[in-house]
Amino acid sequence: MNLVLLGPPGTGKGTIAKFIEVRFGCAHVSTGDLLRDEVASRTAVGLEIEPVMNSGALVDDAIVLRVLEKTLAGLKGKSFVLDGFPRTLEQGEILEPLLARLGIALDLVLEIDSPEEIIVKRLSARRQCVSCKRIYGLDVPSKNEGLCDECGSQTVLRKDDEPEVVKERLRLYNDITRPLSDFYSGRGLLRKIDGDRTLQEIFAEVEKLLSP
Ligand SMILES: [Zn+2]
Repeated sequence: MNLVLLGPPGTGKGTIAKFIEVRFGCAHVSTGDLLRDEVASRTAVGLEIEPVMNSGALVDDAIVLRVLEKTLAGLKGKSFVLDGFPRTLEQGEILEPLLARLGIALDLVLEIDSPEEIIVKRLSARRQCVSCKRIYGLDVPSKNEGLCDECGSQTVLRKDDEPEVVKERLRLYNDITRPLSDFYSGRGLLRKIDGDRTLQEIFAEVEKLLSP
């Protein structure tokens, strides 16, 4: 089963993608990770996009598509869950011919959503270890407040998790990504998932949706 996962920041999308990967054997294809891998392996594409990524700007669609197409072709028919792409209506539209070229069909688009105040609350409670980068949150707090369980270093609130920045990220999401909901709904592929619950409850619903 080939899936796209949509949802604003702070809805546990990455964790849910991991769950689907482990439970259903779908490859977790995160375009953010793919681009970071290109940079880390110093490929031609990696060298090209490194300054763009370091500046915090978005990588050009054409490059993301090239990397994505290579990865999906390499799966050789294995099912996948796509995370981080498409992010705009335009990307949704160009994903279709790409998949058609590879002979791949999308089966389902899951959109995880939560009210804005819940997302702001959850993200502003999030802390990241300054050295090993592990993330702690309301669901999984560190044992000693402010200190990492793994390495004992300090844990801090990330700049992009501060309430004002989160509100801006949500505004961007509503402007540029939300139109994809209607796009996939029109194709009969969209299922909405209420993200304002425990991860266990969300996993149970996803499991039911994806089970044959
Ligand atoms: Zn740590």
